[in-house]
Amino acid sequence: MSTALVTGASSGIGEVYAERLARRGLDLLLVARSAAKLETLATRLRAETGVNVDILPADLANPEDLAKVEARLRHDRTIDTLVNNAGIAGEGAIVDADPAYLTGMINLNIVAVTRLVAAVAPRFAAQGTGTIVNLTSVTALMPGGFTSVYPATKAFVLAFTEALQAELGAKGVRVQAVLPGITRTAIWEAEQLDTIPAEMVMDVNEMVDAALAGLDQGENITIPSLPDQAAFDSFIAARDALHPHLSRDRAAPRYRA
Ligand code: NAP
Repeated sequence: MSTALVTGASSGIGEVYAERLARRGLDLLLVARSAAKLETLATRLRAETGVNVDILPADLANPEDLAKVEARLRHDRTIDTLVNNAGIAGEGAIVDADPAYLTGMINLNIVAVTRLVAAVAPRFAAQGTGTIVNLTSVTALMPGGFTSVYPATKAFVLAFTEALQAELGAKGVRVQAVLPGITRTAIWEAEQLDTIPAEMVMDVNEMVDAALAGLDQGENITIPSLPDQAAFDSFIAARDALHPHLSRDRAAPRYRA
C-alpha cells in the first residue's frame, strides 16, 4: 500500500496534488488546519477515485500539532510520499512587519518542512524507497525581487532539498524541489493577481501537472515555467565553479593588508 501525506491540502496547489495523486492510485493523508475543507475534499476523492483518504487536521506552525504529524510519519509504514506544500506569504515590507506573523511564517515554511522531513527520512533511508516533494518558489532565486522574509524561507527549502538530494538520493529516496512562479491560488488576493500581467500567472492545475511530469522525468529541481532547462543547468554550473575557491588558507589578495 502506498500513501501520500500532503500538507496544505485544503486549497490551491496542495488540493490539486491530492487529486492528482489519488488519480494515480495513491491513498492519501491530508493535512491542513481546516478540518471541514479536508473532509469535503476527502469525501469527493473517495467517491471519484476509490482510494482511501484520511484527514489529519493540524496547525503545522503549532509545536503540539506538528508533533502529531511527525509521529504519524515515523510510524505509519504505508506513507511512502511526503508533499511538503503548506506555506504562507504576504508579510509585506520588513519595516512594517508584524514579528508574530514572521515567526509563524518561519515556523510553517521552514521549521515544519524540516521536521517533517526529519521524521520520515530515517524510515525512507532504511527502506531505500520513498519520495519527498518540497514546494519552494522561484522567489528563492530572486531574493531582491519580492518581499524579504518569504523568499528567504523558500531559499532555505531549496538549499535544504538540494542537501537532501545529496544525502538521501544515494540511499534510494527520490527528492524534488518544485519552484512555482506566480500561480493562481488563494495565497494571492484576487486584486493582486489583477495587477500582474496574465502571461506571468499560471493555472494551478497546469503547475501541478508540470511538477509531477518533472518528478516522473527524475528531476531534482523543477521550475514549471522555465522553457530551457540548460539555462538553469548553467546557473548551477557557475555556482559549482566557485567551489574550489570558497575555503582556502589565505584571504583573497584584495583583502590582505
Ligand atoms: P494556498 O491556496 O493559500 O494554500 C495554502 C495551504 O496551506 C492551505 O491548504 C492552508 O490550509 C495550508 N496552511 C496554511 N497555514 C497552515 C498551517 N499553519 N498549518 C497547516 N496548513 C496550513 O496557497 P498555495 O498557493 O496553494 O501555496 C502552496 C505552496 O506553494 C506554499 O508553500 C507556497 O509558498 C508555494 N508557492 C505558491 C505560489 C503561488 O503563486 N501560488 C508560488 C510559489 C510557491 P488551512 O488554511 O486550512 O490551514
